[in-house]
Parts: sequence; structure tokens; C-alpha cells
Amino acid sequence: MSETAPTLFTRIINREIPADIIYEDELCIVIHDIAPQAPIHVLIIPKQPIARLADAAQTDQSILGHLMLVAGDVARRLDVDDAFRLVVNNGADAGQTVFHLHLHILAGVKGSKEFFETDIGG
Ligand code: 5GP
Repeated sequence: MSETAPTLFTRIINREIPADIIYEDELCIVIHDIAPQAPIHVLIIPKQPIARLADAAQTDQSILGHLMLVAGDVARRLDVDDAFRLVVNNGADAGQTVFHLHLHILAGVKGSKEFFETDIGG
């Protein structure tokens, strides 16, 4: 695969690979994770493919802010805005498997102390 090959998430954005898309705007999509690690597990993915958060530049400030605002909005729509985790795995050693930046929203049963005390690894 060449370095410029589209990422898995770009292929989902381009509808070449099916996914359960629950939100889309001009800058990002939000999909259900194929292998959920919590009762609610969605991915917020910028259309512009940045490989890792650590590769983001100053010029990416507005898209990064947008992803955070979408996270809050999606959490409200999913009715988990009182209790959710936002996770970014950066680098293979941190559990990153898809090298196209994405934010995980993970939410369990409302008020579940057990869920929110569990470490989320990759
Ligand atoms: P990472 O490990 O890179 O932080 O997260 C990648 C996430 O993408 C994983 O949680 C994994 O389950 C999810 N994933 C991988 N392939 C697909 C796919 O084809 N469709 C969807 N919806 N999620 C995927």
C-alpha cells in the first residue's frame, strides 16, 4: 500500500466501505464503532486525514476544536452528556490501529461508577 492510499476511515467517508453513520457535516463524520468497548461507542472522524493527534499542526486548530464541539453535541443527542469518556489513542503503543485521527466517545450505563473506574486501553 502506498503512503497516499486512502485510510479505512476515508473509505468509509467516501462510502466505499459501509458504516453506521449517525452524524455528518462538511468537516467530519460520526460512526458507531464496529467492535464497541462500551454500551455506546462512537467515533468522531475528521474528513481531513491527520494520521495522529501528534501530527496535527497549528493550522488544524479549528478542525480539532470542531471535533470537540461535535463530541459534546453527539453526546447530548445520544443522551449520555452527563457521563461519557472522550479517548484519543495516539500511536501503536497507545493502542492506535487506524492512522486517521479519531475521537472515541465511550459511555456506559448512566451513573455506572464501575464503568468509569475502568482503564480503557487499546
Ligand atoms: P484506534 O484503536 O485506532 O484508536 O481505534 C480504531 C477503532 O476503529 C477501533 O475501536 C475499531 O473497533 C474501529 N474500527 C476498525 N475498523 C472499523 C470499521 O471497518 N468500521 C467501524 N465502524 N469501526 C472500525
